[in-house]
Order: sequence, then C-alpha cells, then structure tokens
Amino acid sequence: MTEQGFFYRDTWAEVDLDCIHANVASVKKLLPPQVEIIAVVKANGYGHGDLKVAESALKAGASYLAVAFMDEAIALRNKGIQAPILVLGASRPEDAALAVKFDITITVFQKEWVDAAKAYLPNDKVLSVHIKLDTGMGRIGIRAKEELADVEQMISKDNRIELEGIFTHFATADELDLTYFQKQIEVFRDMLSVLKSRPKYVHCSNSAASLRFPSAHFNAVRLGIVMYGLTPSPEIEPELPFALKEAFSLHSRLVHMKKLTKGEKVSYGATYETEEEEWIGTIPIGYADGWIRRLQGQEVLVEGKRVPIVGRICMDQCMVKLPHFVPVGTTVTLIGKQNNEFISVNEIAKKLETINYEVPCIISTRVPRLYKQGGKIVVLKNYLLPE
Ligand SMILES: *Cc1c(COP(=O)(O)O)cnc(C)c1O
Repeated sequence: MTEQGFFYRDTWAEVDLDCIHANVASVKKLLPPQVEIIAVVKANGYGHGDLKVAESALKAGASYLAVAFMDEAIALRNKGIQAPILVLGASRPEDAALAVKFDITITVFQKEWVDAAKAYLPNDKVLSVHIKLDTGMGRIGIRAKEELADVEQMISKDNRIELEGIFTHFATADELDLTYFQKQIEVFRDMLSVLKSRPKYVHCSNSAASLRFPSAHFNAVRLGIVMYGLTPSPEIEPELPFALKEAFSLHSRLVHMKKLTKGEKVSYGATYETEEEEWIGTIPIGYADGWIRRLQGQEVLVEGKRVPIVGRICMDQCMVKLPHFVPVGTTVTLIGKQNNEFISVNEIAKKLETINYEVPCIISTRVPRLYKQGGKIVVLKNYLLPE
C-alpha cells in the first residue's frame, strides 16, 4: 500500500470528505440563517475520524461540535480544534476544572451535579454549561420543572458558571408515528417556560428532527448521522429533502488465490465445501477489524461484480469465491462502489440486523482511515501513530 499511505496491510477505509462537506452544506441551505449547526463527531466521528470530519463540517457551515465524553473533546483540542465543543454525556463533577482548562462546554443534568462540581471550579475562569432536560428519552437530564428552576438559580448565583445553552433529545424523531415526538417537544416547551432567561443556545433536534420538523429547530440543531450521508432510519428516507452522499467505504485486496477441486473445505470448522472446481481468494480482513462473523455469506465486490464470502470469517482474514482466476492485488470492496455495483452501509446493517449507525462505528481502529478530497487521497496516516 505504499502509494496510498504509511501502512503495510491491504485493508483500509476511505472517508470522502467532499461527501461530508456536501451533506452539511445541504442542511445549512435548508435551515433558516439564525439556526446554527452543531456537528456531532462523537465516537471518532461515527468511526469516520473525528478530526477530518470536524474540519469538513466546520468548513461547510457548522459552528459548534459535540462529542459524548470529555476524553473525546480533549482529543479534538489536542489535535488543534479551536471551535466550541459540547460534551453531551455525563462528565464527572471533579472534571469540571479540566473542562475549564480545555475550554470545553459540559452538560448539567442533575441538581446534585452542580453542587458537587462547585467544589472543583477555579475562581478566575468561567465554566460554560448546557442544561440537559429529559423530556422522554429516559437517559440523562432534569425531568422536573422545580429542579430546572433550582438549577438555573444555582448557576446564575455563581459567577464561575455560565449557562450557555439548554437542550433535550428525542427518542422517536426517525419514526413515522409522530405521537411521542410531539409529546416530547411539548414537554420541552413547557419546561423552557420556567426559565427566567433563555440562554444563547436552545436545541433539541438530531438529524431526523432537523430535516423533518422546522418547529423543532429553535436556534441550533445537532447533526450526526446525516452529515455522514446515512439516513436516520429506512422509514424516513423517502422524506429526506436531498440525496445523501455516503462518505464511508471499506476496501481490501486479494492476497492469495487458489483453485480448489470439488469437495475441498474452507476455513474454521471446515463448514464450506466446494461444489465443483472453484477459485477461492483470501482477503486480509476479519472480525478483529469489525468485519464480524455474522457477515459470513455477505457479498463483496471484485472487478465490479458481487461475489460471496465463503466459510467462517477468521480474526484477520476471510475467503471469497470467485467466478474465475483473479490476480493477487485486485481490490475488493466490502462497502462502497465498484463500477455500477454498490454495497451500502445500509445493506451491511440489514445483514447484521442492526442500524446503519453501528456499521462504521464497529470497523475497528486496526483498519486505517484514508481521507479523500477532490477525488484524491489527502491524508496519508499511519494508524499506529497519533494524528
Ligand atoms: C448522538 C446524538 C445526536 C446525533 O444524532 P443523529 O441521529 O446521529 O443525528 C444528537 N444529540 C445527542 C444528545 C446525541 O447523543
């Protein structure tokens, strides 16, 4: 792989940054100008790579970033990101000082948290927080109006904390039945009404709600899955106002080719038996890469055609059945396009009986990510070294 990067295995993921840019720009065009985009780059940018996704999203019109944990926010700061970053999940009260140090906004989700965090706040700097309301997701957040009023007061009385935002999260924004979504937004509005003053940011929409419900825009939206070019759910795909551009693809190369005679076996358990003379190729990707055993039988693309994975998937390798001899070194596409054939993230999700969100997330860090821009590979990254 010398021409493509500083790694020595024939398996890699490609992330097309032009797709990320186009998806964010399309959402930006749809939103009223006062509605800001918070780009959600948690979990290493849904497995795509946090830094490059963040940079592309910011260039395309996002103004804020969000991650799940403080560690992810600090990682982005250490990679040079200066844009505001919100930690959506729970941070420990004792880490409040760390948030101040790295200029990271964190989430207040309980009255007790504010009391506990106060013991750790420096006197000469201000901690920026958003309050999280639980309007029906049942995960983290304040559920009672009295508690919200108390928290607002506790924060306003302490000049070491600034209330910059307030938000909630929908459980069903990607479903066709809107009953529960409407209930949640009603609860959100009702809770907002107890605030003495509205903070700068009021936000509740994930990707699905951002694209489907202008009434849920307030003045910022949290854009995750759509930025990566994936639909929030198959049901709402027909409703999406523009065509999404899928950014993630996964590739390998044939490292071994052989012709087996009828009745020979392939892989652990010797469960696959050739029915005739068959060409069997080996590719260096397996379950330790997130290409898990349940993908046995899944098709991949070779020379622009679909061919099946045969036998059990091993930790580092798996085998494919080819219609004829194909030279070692030929590219095998596991997710993405070859000629007119396309294996989408959704196809893999369906095979795994899961959601598309999970697919790029489970492709492990052992698989190097290459970034494409203007049709060219722009980042040659050794995945064993820090970015
Ligand atoms: C992950 C997450 C999002 C992004 O959701 P998408 O469906 O990917 O757009 C938004 N808000 C919160 C609180 C999240 O945890």
